[in-house]
Amino acid sequence: MRNLEKLVRPNIQRLTPYSCARDEFKGREAHVFIDANENPYNTNFNRYPDPLQEELKAELAKVKDVPAEYMFLGNGSDEAIDLVYRIFCEPKEDNVVAIAPTYGMYKVCADINDVEYRTVLLNENFQLDADKLLAACDAHTKVIWMCSPNNPTGNCLERKQIVKVLKGFDGIVVLDEAYSDFAQERPFRYELPQYPNLIVLNTMSKAWASAAIRLGMAFASPEIIALFNKVKYPYNVNQLTQKQAVEMLHSVQKFQQWLSIIITERAHLVPAVAELPICQKMYPTDANFFLVKVTDADSIYHYLVERGIIVRNRNRVELCGNCLRITIGTPQENCELLSALRQYRP
Ligand SMILES: *Cc1c(COP(=O)(O)O)cnc(C)c1O
Repeated sequence: MRNLEKLVRPNIQRLTPYSCARDEFKGREAHVFIDANENPYNTNFNRYPDPLQEELKAELAKVKDVPAEYMFLGNGSDEAIDLVYRIFCEPKEDNVVAIAPTYGMYKVCADINDVEYRTVLLNENFQLDADKLLAACDAHTKVIWMCSPNNPTGNCLERKQIVKVLKGFDGIVVLDEAYSDFAQERPFRYELPQYPNLIVLNTMSKAWASAAIRLGMAFASPEIIALFNKVKYPYNVNQLTQKQAVEMLHSVQKFQQWLSIIITERAHLVPAVAELPICQKMYPTDANFFLVKVTDADSIYHYLVERGIIVRNRNRVELCGNCLRITIGTPQENCELLSALRQYRP
């Protein structure tokens, strides 16, 4: 890996971060807080929230088995994605390399930050060729983006190829594991000590049933986490979110029940859809959704909309011609989808 100082944008390296009232006062006993111009009357929300979310990180450390010092929490994973660009990529000068197809936000954030976004197509099985990815990099490549299980394809990338990228690239490697709870593969967040250039993304939006609270995570070396903390908005995760997230993390049992129902439903729904006459190809999935190539994606998409069922039409995405991406719903919702698809006539 190149020196972290060489990878970080010079202005970020030099930056003196904003020091908020809650940063300057740390720990000691106190009972009069007149340092932050807050309203003193207790509404439960009159005080600024903890800028570093210590209680929430302690809960996450138990659930995720990652030490709190290796964690950044943000307003969804989307905040972490944007921060990666703002920390490492000099606009108009640096570039990033990403697999394709994949999650759309990596490119949107590259465009917003005016950073060149290079793509390397996955193969016909949506697998990654590490050598091809590495060959697309040059001296100005700061970041490689990968996602496993990948969205919209649903599959895990081969572990050997991911490791080859991690070992072969001297910049930052982001691995988005938003869907790892639904997969059998061992998550890469456990391998952080081995790979100082690795950033793993997680979210409460999928398996943890909390998309509305907007809580995303980046797991990385404490040195990289320090950079995230330097650049983020001081109070980037609000009090309602921190409180609700802690509450959800206490419901590990409910989480595991949902997970097991969704995985069981996936095992029933995927082969049932694969047998329909409209199915051209069913792709293997390790996520809470599946990608299916159908006879006419646009027509089936609109047919389902008419019946009040919304799936994701990926017809215009590279390598995904005539593909629909379908999330595993409740057993009842999955039945309704299946029965609608059975009644479809071209
Ligand atoms: C859904 C999803 C996310 C979640 O983003 P949030 O901003 O945390 O809701 C992240 N990455 C991928 C690949 C996703 O599909």
